[in-house]
Amino acid sequence: MDTLPFSLPTFDPGWVWLVGAGPGDPGLLTLLAAHALGHADVVVYDALVDQGALALANPDAELVYAGKRGGKPSPKQPDITNSLIALALEGKKVLRLKGGDPFVFGRGAEEARALSQAGIPFRVVPGVTAGVGGLAYAGIPATTRDTNAAVTFVTGHASTGEVPDGIRWPELAKGSPVIVFYMALKHLPTIIERLIDGGRDPADSAAVVASAATPEQRVVTAPLKDLGEAVTREGIAPPAIVVVGRTVDFREHLDWWTPAPAAAPPSTAVRTVLDAEKTVARAG
Ligand code: SAH
Repeated sequence: MDTLPFSLPTFDPGWVWLVGAGPGDPGLLTLLAAHALGHADVVVYDALVDQGALALANPDAELVYAGKRGGKPSPKQPDITNSLIALALEGKKVLRLKGGDPFVFGRGAEEARALSQAGIPFRVVPGVTAGVGGLAYAGIPATTRDTNAAVTFVTGHASTGEVPDGIRWPELAKGSPVIVFYMALKHLPTIIERLIDGGRDPADSAAVVASAATPEQRVVTAPLKDLGEAVTREGIAPPAIVVVGRTVDFREHLDWWTPAPAAAPPSTAVRTVLDAEKTVARAG
């Protein structure tokens, strides 16, 4: 394969591409994400973006860290957004690289709205979200026909720093057969209590998947009522996804994951895609 059998959009100067990098494994980058990395003048990236993904950036690209991790000093959201606008107005090709999917608990919509209001042209490149792809790396499907006709994504952490108060816990607890929580470790005991008080079976299956799709991936499963204790005992740290529901039971048979050797060279298949991408870049 010397060239990709289809064309990818050109990354024009003055544009911002808002790109999802997936939950960890750089192999989960989309072709559009790899293409954008190869062409960007500046990459503004978040804390959860894997170094392996950044290694695909054009060597001349400027890499700007805009990470936010709970409790540590970090750039303010308006500063990040303003710098994206300023860089675009300078005529740069600006890649805003975010963990997972930019539109799932990632403030991508806020950034896109600011770009839109400032008249900056932008493109959104979806990514694999941790609550689906990260769980898949733990052998936990988001849905199966036997277990759930619905799945709910919930944040365990509102902008106030507290458990979001807009959630109707009894309805969530009784109405959603599978619930996937992002940013939920800090308030896990409260979340578990609210689910059980809201009518969820305390013996329902539950799991925490930390650093999913990275060599540090760790998974803990326990009945819902015991999950908090298990997480403390195992010393599980963020980032982590919490999942409640019977799809967790599939892990017993679907745990396919083994970590890739940390320093493994890119596989032939990856090289082929990247070489094809270079050919496209030369042609374009
Ligand atoms: N936009 C991201 C979510 C950003 S919010 C996405 O679509 O995945 C940050 C939260 O995402 C973390 O607190 C954690 O709950 C989850 N997360 C992101 N990457 C993760 C990973 N590799 N493993 C486990 N959880 C992850």
